[in-house]
Amino acid sequence: MSANQPSQTQSPLRVGVLGFGGLGQAASRVLAPKQEMRLVAVADRHGYAYDTNGLDPDRCIATYNERGSIGHLEGVGTLSDESIGDLIANAPDVDGYFLALPNLPNSFMASVARQFIESGWKGVLVDALKRTSAVEQLLELQNDLQAAGMTYMTGCGATPGLLTAAASLAAQSYAEIHKVEITFGVGIANWEAYRATIREDIAHMPGYDVEKARAMSDAEVEALLDETNGILKLENMEHADDIMLELAGIVSRDRVTVGGIVDTRNPKKPLSTHVRVTGRTFEGKESSHTFTLGDETSMAANVCGPAFGYLKAGISLHRRGINGLFTAAEVMPQFVR
Ligand code: NAD
Repeated sequence: MSANQPSQTQSPLRVGVLGFGGLGQAASRVLAPKQEMRLVAVADRHGYAYDTNGLDPDRCIATYNERGSIGHLEGVGTLSDESIGDLIANAPDVDGYFLALPNLPNSFMASVARQFIESGWKGVLVDALKRTSAVEQLLELQNDLQAAGMTYMTGCGATPGLLTAAASLAAQSYAEIHKVEITFGVGIANWEAYRATIREDIAHMPGYDVEKARAMSDAEVEALLDETNGILKLENMEHADDIMLELAGIVSRDRVTVGGIVDTRNPKKPLSTHVRVTGRTFEGKESSHTFTLGDETSMAANVCGPAFGYLKAGISLHRRGINGLFTAAEVMPQFVR
């Protein structure tokens, strides 16, 4: 183990989660058994909680669901409509944050990154952004992140994220990459557990865009899902896997396709999530590698696990003085014990 890697003998990394909906809550459960990371900060739209001794996920989730905000958490919660700014100002001891926030509007995550830069905070951020245009906005912040002494890991969920990294690994067998095809299947019991995810998926459907999906009321989302029997079929999505693989020098973005099926009424996956990388070897043979996720693994497991793996990798880069923006296709995630 390198001297810069957090080890079990060191104190756990202090981690915050911004956004406490479907993914944020799952993230708190993923962290609970970890020795190397401790959840110390959480924020939602209406408040935040901070405790350097660690936050209990069950209490956080019960408070959020029963009282509408983590700000009501007894003893350590604060109500605020500027929860992110107030948390940054009042939580000095956080090594890194997972941004489990909706990217609505499409510029929201970049504006949160700017807020961190302007605050003078020096640490590590990781997001699970999906859209190419959203990652492009973060690329524009590369110099500012570096100057601020921050390390930002973008596109570190499942797709982009785990599957993009798998494509980067699979590409190594080939002299030339012909195409990368990502196909995902997501099954969730109820769309309301992942409102932002579903709205952002609707934004990819013909006739919709981010602003239209953002403006839809819950009743309108439900009416649309009633029409489709709870199924969203998505093709040729604007997904940042393309720009991430292009930036990593693997394949041009027009050779990367992403699509999938989301069932909002059944936790069983409608199809197996996989990435297929087709290329030509140095001997001139065309072939494909396919990496398929286990059907039992949920979207939450495949997003939050990689997000914390990349957060750990980002923290080890940051501790070596390496700052700026990185994508899931150029850095290996590190397993969090
Ligand atoms: P959600 O709607 O369930 O929860 C969003 C949370 O953010 C809520 O707790 C809300 O209170 C909080 N929030 C909203 N505005 C805020 C603000 N201004 N300040 C502080 N908190 C605020 O969201 P979700 O379904 O868990 O999705 C989160 C994000 O993860 C989405 O952008 C989604 O696209 C992304 N995602 C990525 C992948 C991937 O593989 N890359 C997969 C699934 C979801």
